[in-house]
Amino acid sequence: MFRVQREELVDEITRKGITDLAVIKAIGIVPREKFIEKTMHHMAYKDVALPIGYDQTISQPYTVAFMTQLLNIKKPGMKILEIGTGSGYQAAVLFEMQADVYSIERNVDLHHRATKLFDKLGIRVHAKFGDGTIGWKEFAPFDGIIVTAGSPVIPKNLKEQLAVGGRMVIPVGDRKSQKLYLLKKVSENEFESEVIPEFTFVPLIGREGWKR
Ligand code: SAM
Repeated sequence: MFRVQREELVDEITRKGITDLAVIKAIGIVPREKFIEKTMHHMAYKDVALPIGYDQTISQPYTVAFMTQLLNIKKPGMKILEIGTGSGYQAAVLFEMQADVYSIERNVDLHHRATKLFDKLGIRVHAKFGDGTIGWKEFAPFDGIIVTAGSPVIPKNLKEQLAVGGRMVIPVGDRKSQKLYLLKKVSENEFESEVIPEFTFVPLIGREGWKR
């Protein structure tokens, strides 16, 4: 089911400029319909964000592909931390790319829903309920960190928990509009940053995020 629609989505993100073959392959495999309500299945392969309840969304496939491409996942087993599990789709794409995925969600219901789905689909992701702005120290350092909600600042903990040579992709800005940052950790306390304008995200709420 949905094979043709998935292929059309792959064509669409490729047309829009995604070039990383591993990302394209993963988007062509992960069944996005499983991460949304049945009533929205007809929208599953449209290149749009969709509601998943609790005022949250499953990100637009192009955004998932674009941010994942920025992580530059080039070998199996790279340790990636995701902040904002949401539906679990982004984590599933990373898992499909053979990353070792750690994902944190602050909404307990979304966390439970995603972990149940991961079990059902055989997606092996380390998922935790909590405030992702604090990171996941026990498993640090991470080769990549992807933050899927907009943040007022780049959380200090996340910078610390990034491995030297690692990359962080994070939308930063005010509540209405954010710029996408690509941060590369070049040494223990040196970062190179690049700004990629054009995306907007729902707010990241937490100790180093928005207060509510
Ligand atoms: N990656 C998700 C997916 O594939 O469906 C998209 C998630 S949605 C755009 C952003 C998510 O970030 C929401 O589920 C929201 O509850 C979560 N979030 C916001 N602030 C957070 C925080 N401080 N820690 C963890 N999750 C957070």
